[in-house]
Amino acid sequence: RAKNEGRNTYRLHRSEMDVQARHHLSLETELRDMLERGDGLVMHYQPLFSRDSGQLKSAEALVRWQHPVRGLIPPGEFIPLAERSGLILPLGEQILDRVISDITRWQNEGQAPVPVAINLSAAQFWQAGFADDIADRFSAAGIPPELIIFELTESMLLNKHDQGMAILTALNERGFRIALDDFGTGYSSLNYLQNIPAHSLKIDRSFIVALDNNTRGSRAIIAAIASLARELGLIVVAEGVETQKQWDQLGEYAIDLIQGFYTARPMTADAFTTLLNTQHSAAIPQTDS
Ligand code: C2E
Ligand code: MG
Ligand code: MG
Ligand code: MG
Repeated sequence: RAKNEGRNTYRLHRSEMDVQARHHLSLETELRDMLERGDGLVMHYQPLFSRDSGQLKSAEALVRWQHPVRGLIPPGEFIPLAERSGLILPLGEQILDRVISDITRWQNEGQAPVPVAINLSAAQFWQAGFADDIADRFSAAGIPPELIIFELTESMLLNKHDQGMAILTALNERGFRIALDDFGTGYSSLNYLQNIPAHSLKIDRSFIVALDNNTRGSRAIIAAIASLARELGLIVVAEGVETQKQWDQLGEYAIDLIQGFYTARPMTADAFTTLLNTQHSAAIPQTDS
């Protein structure tokens, strides 16, 4: 009996895997086709606000795939696929194209620009000549490097710390800024924060979520990361703030910027244009205090 069940379970599992594999195969083919046509990506922009003044300070560019049948596909469903199938470099190129064209539009319309953060995949970051190529690209587009923040994760530097630092330094020397994304989830030692040429640190959403449970642990970790980062001169960002309770609690720590659904969801470039226009009166939720 047990044997039979085992076999059935196995069979079910197998066929589920086949369905999944076929799904991925067709999605991969469609991703390849879309990248060849070069017409399926849209960037959404999520604002970051000052915790103290409520001012709009920057935005993170987040890619979506506008699929004719499946609708808007989130990056979690195709970035890992692109990374596995060697499509991440052309994908990364087209993401840069989209961001450059959106920023150019804001510049042409005379909007006071705010810095835009772009997520990098490891393969992009480790491309030979990356810092020079990217600097050429933005300078050809007339976009000052000070307007660009590159977001990368601790894990990208793992095992190749010295080479990674060299690239970060090169980016920094060319005027770009670096944000350490999803901080606290990787394996690197806090020690490397001392020397890394980063300008901001984004505390991972998982620590913010844990604030709701009022666990001493999560509060202690946020407090420690935030005060250490600020001591080291980094701008501290809390990612994934969803509730007023979280917003209120974060006021107790050395948090500079808030990014999350509580203040604003990622929005289309058009919606972000409107926000840029009204940024001085940008309404953000007020607490009772
Ligand atoms: P990330 O860089 O950590 O981006 C933040 C993610 O958290 C975004 O998800 C954003 O929509 C989501 N988020 C923001 N505030 C909240 C909140 O209050 N609650 C919750 N539950 N989520 C919130 P998204 O857009 O689905 O992106 C997921 C990940 O995909 C990103 O994580 C990043 O690692 C990757 N990604 C997105 N765009 C790009 C891109 O252009 N290039 C590369 N290489 N990776 C990208
Ligand atoms: Mg990010
Ligand atoms: Mg993040
Ligand atoms: Mg994340």
